[in-house]
Amino acid sequence: MDDGAARPGAQGVPTRDVIAQLIAFLWRWRWLVLLMGLAVALLIRIDWSPGKTIVVTFDGAGAEERPLLLYSGMRAGRCRAFEPWVGAPSVTLTDVKYGASCPTEIDVFARGHGADAYAVDPAKPGSERWFTDALSSGALTWHFPDLTPVPLTLWLVADGPRDLATVEAKRDDLTAWATARFDAEGAGIMLEIVSKQIATSAVGEDCSAAAAIFGNSSIFDAGRINVYLVEWYGSSGSSTTAYNCVDVGHKEIAFIAWGNPNLRDAALTHELGHSLGLSRPTAVWGHTEGVAGFDSKNIMWPGGDAMHITVGQLYGIHFSDVSWLHGTGPSSVQPLVRTCQNAWGPPPPCPHLSQALTGWPPP
Ligand SMILES: [Zn+2]
Repeated sequence: MDDGAARPGAQGVPTRDVIAQLIAFLWRWRWLVLLMGLAVALLIRIDWSPGKTIVVTFDGAGAEERPLLLYSGMRAGRCRAFEPWVGAPSVTLTDVKYGASCPTEIDVFARGHGADAYAVDPAKPGSERWFTDALSSGALTWHFPDLTPVPLTLWLVADGPRDLATVEAKRDDLTAWATARFDAEGAGIMLEIVSKQIATSAVGEDCSAAAAIFGNSSIFDAGRINVYLVEWYGSSGSSTTAYNCVDVGHKEIAFIAWGNPNLRDAALTHELGHSLGLSRPTAVWGHTEGVAGFDSKNIMWPGGDAMHITVGQLYGIHFSDVSWLHGTGPSSVQPLVRTCQNAWGPPPPCPHLSQALTGWPPP
């Protein structure tokens, strides 16, 4: 038996030299080694798997429908927030994948239909399944919900038949404008309007009366937005043409001054905007006057034409926690509630309020 291999130290000396040299080498190049280690760690974290394609189709949609889809999630290697797509009517999302650290959500709006949303809640195990299933199958089918009802009572505050005729004519102009604009903008809501006459002595004429009105079933319909068409807001000759009481905690109550010659047909549309979540940033109660990205045709431009609703505002109407559709409204119909940023932007959790999109709403 050769005992050479068993002799301690016979091969240990060169091994020790190699280890010592290695340690010296590593020490000399320690910063480079550290950098390479970090690079390797980063490469392992990056998901290099190819993205998938998801074709989103809309059940029962006609060929002419152009739904708006907002995609949040990983796409083409980046985490996207509210990336807008207009369908024809389907939408093909390319190079998408699931990333737990990237908020995943799809929101859908379409003229003549209610708004809808799917989101992944990282706190709920399995809530990503709708998305990972869509990645596997390459398809996601949406069933449009009905328009979200917005019950609205218009209180015609007038004493004699002549005043009543005047206020009825104003009511018709205001409601025609609001109905047409919400429809044209694909707002996804349907105004369910009733009107009732009350005497001027029955109700206060500005928001200082809101708390008293709210508790009085003879002049307030619970579960509805209540708008009071008074001759003047506050006092005769007042310059205020309309006012929503959101700033005193009553977004379900608004006043419109039918006797004010400066009253515009767009006033009701604007005040409903305040009720429906467009009251942020609260520093200006959501008013867009002079804010970059808005013009005087925007719904929240005071005294404007209330023609247009941005994509960001559309999201706020349906999914902002301060929208009347949540809390006092028919909250059960809204699939998602977000505590939106009390600022103009940027996301998350809600899109930038000025976010708009060429091609939406469709002509
Ligand atoms: Zn306003």
